[in-house]
Amino acid sequence: MDPPVSYPSPPPGWIVVLGELVEDGSVLGAVARREQIRGTCQRPGCWRRCELDLQRLVESGFGRAPLAWAKTTLVCPNMDGCRLQFKAEYGRVLRLEDICQPGVTVRFQCLSCGALVTKTPRALVAHIRARGKTDPAFREISTVAQLKDLPRGPCKACGKALGRLEVRWPAERVTLSAAAKAEITAARR
Ligand SMILES: [Zn+2]
Ligand SMILES: [Zn+2]
Repeated sequence: MDPPVSYPSPPPGWIVVLGELVEDGSVLGAVARREQIRGTCQRPGCWRRCELDLQRLVESGFGRAPLAWAKTTLVCPNMDGCRLQFKAEYGRVLRLEDICQPGVTVRFQCLSCGALVTKTPRALVAHIRARGKTDPAFREISTVAQLKDLPRGPCKACGKALGRLEVRWPAERVTLSAAAKAEITAARR
């Protein structure tokens, strides 16, 4: 039997959706990222400030609820509406070293022609460090968010700008027993 292959779990506060590493948009996700979510109503004359009590939401059984819903519980009761705007403060950010894990890749996809370019995070970090020697825009990059904002060269296939950047996180691989493998081989014959 092959040794079991175990892949790293996503960093706390991030989840894998269809192979892509994305921010967990639930109340528990914000707790895991240690965020403080504060809001200020932008309506002139109101300017109310508030903060989401994430701990209380979790204790009341709303841990899996979307943050977007939790925010609606703080809306001002004005007849002419509320212009509450939220921002997350002091949260954990996804650093480049967090994604330097076995099986993880960074994928650029051209939104014009669909061409894909896939690199390992380690190769990408080495490339960024090398570019940083001559290009100041590359020097300060330490987070995945900064990586996403980085100016990119044109797509090799169509010449347009490379579009979307995704961090692809490996799913857990199932290890088959020798008996199960033999069964599958027999069924294919
Ligand atoms: Zn208000
Ligand atoms: Zn293209």
